[in-house]
Amino acid sequence: MTGSFGEERMLVDGALVRASTGAVFETVNPATEEVLGVAADASEQDAERALGAARRAFDESTWSTDVALRVRCLRQLRSAMRSHAEELRAMTIAETGSPLFMTRSAQLDDPVESLGWVADLAESYEWTTDLGVAEPLGMPARRWIRREAAGVVAAITPWNVPHQINLAKLGPALAAGNTVVLKPAPDTPWCATVLGRLIAEETDIPAGVVNILPSSDPAFGARLVRDGRVDQVTFTGSTATGRAVMADAAGTLKRVFLELGGKSAFVVLDDADLAGACGVAAFTVCVHAGQGCAITTRLVVPEEHFGDAVDVAAAALAKLPAGDPTDPGTICGPLINARQRQRVLRYVDLARQEGGTIVVGGGRPAAQTRGFFVEPTLVTGIGNDSPVAREEIFGPVLVVIPHDGDDDALRIANDSPYGLSGSVWSGDRDRAMALAARLRTGTVGVNGGVWYSPDVPFGGYKQSGIGREMGVAGFEEYLETKAVAEPA
Ligand code: NAD
Repeated sequence: MTGSFGEERMLVDGALVRASTGAVFETVNPATEEVLGVAADASEQDAERALGAARRAFDESTWSTDVALRVRCLRQLRSAMRSHAEELRAMTIAETGSPLFMTRSAQLDDPVESLGWVADLAESYEWTTDLGVAEPLGMPARRWIRREAAGVVAAITPWNVPHQINLAKLGPALAAGNTVVLKPAPDTPWCATVLGRLIAEETDIPAGVVNILPSSDPAFGARLVRDGRVDQVTFTGSTATGRAVMADAAGTLKRVFLELGGKSAFVVLDDADLAGACGVAAFTVCVHAGQGCAITTRLVVPEEHFGDAVDVAAAALAKLPAGDPTDPGTICGPLINARQRQRVLRYVDLARQEGGTIVVGGGRPAAQTRGFFVEPTLVTGIGNDSPVAREEIFGPVLVVIPHDGDDDALRIANDSPYGLSGSVWSGDRDRAMALAARLRTGTVGVNGGVWYSPDVPFGGYKQSGIGREMGVAGFEEYLETKAVAEPA
């Protein structure tokens, strides 16, 4: 079932094709290390064809001006994904290692439904605003603001929540009237190529409007970024790669939209329900084995309750359901690959070297002899200046740091190169809100409030990114603004 729903072919100029060179690369199940199958490994010639097709579809077809067509196509894509939801679910768990429960939200079902939200937005959007008459330079003029598609968009995505990110780019970019060349991460090609198959076989999206090119070569993304036919780059991935993307885009001075890493703080104030908050913090860091950019990985707790906070978090992590991602009860599945597991274990070693204590976990689980698993891990005894507390680990590792009051908690939370997300817990709602307002991050959950939703813009301050994904702001990232005037 999982293998049979995969897709080797890529989508280029409306056709499902193999790489021009015939090259393929393997996609692997991170929970079992089993090779699921292969995906086309796009060549330079394939890139040329896809970019040419995307450019033509934008410049020469009615796609960018026909809102009704775009709305219909997005709803068709949602229907196609809905009708294959169970095959997609099984394939997604197999390819990403994501626990089944997550596919009921961010890992599959929610992004599919978000296509409907963005189609509705495009349908009701004010594409032209009449500013009325004014007399600039003493000459009466009637003025309008038109919102137009940016052009050809290169979308480059990571492996951790591939449907969420592929669709959070594709949906608004298409709704806005752009054409797209999507390059998925090498670890999750099928989550993108099956989308290509559904687009080709079950929607009226015209040839060239969406092109999907998997590649095993990281340099392939850079090749798309540098291409002069691309008007805008939308990138989600690590901050290091984001910097390279921005530099590469500078040559042709194109629009760059970046969703990058995070090292978010979970701040517990002294009047909070300590046990409740620390239990949630432990759960959160293990969702998809910590492979989420917005996951809160620093638990910042009152110094006077430090011992209790560690005990609660440790107990929660020790009994957290981990293992087989196909089990409906599993919260913490495997990491995506052996390299990522090695990286996480390296940070745990570093914590030990720096005099930190590994209170729980810290190694590979004895029960899993196959798969890229790491135990849910709790670290104490390292400062906020340690690389373990500053750098993105992307694994189920929670660092507990003491604070001595609200201002100190805020200082620690904001003392990070990143600014993606955060969480504040207090028995006093106004106190929590006041602290949330001072966090330098793009999203904040107060007392467990969940911000993730298609109408909520998501993105980072500081080195967590530039721009917003989702919501009206995420749609408008893909639009140019044109002012038009005529004599009145
Ligand atoms: P990555 O930066 O290694 O790769 C992301 C994508 O960029 C992949 O498709 C990769 O092939 C491609 N790529 C690699 N080098 C490139 C280059 N020089 N030019 C253009 N493209 C290039 O990230 P990853 O390991 O796939 O994903 C994990 C990272 O993504 C984490 O840092 C995580 O925080 C981040 N992330 C951010 C968000 C967000 O919305 N802020 C969401 C999910 C993941």
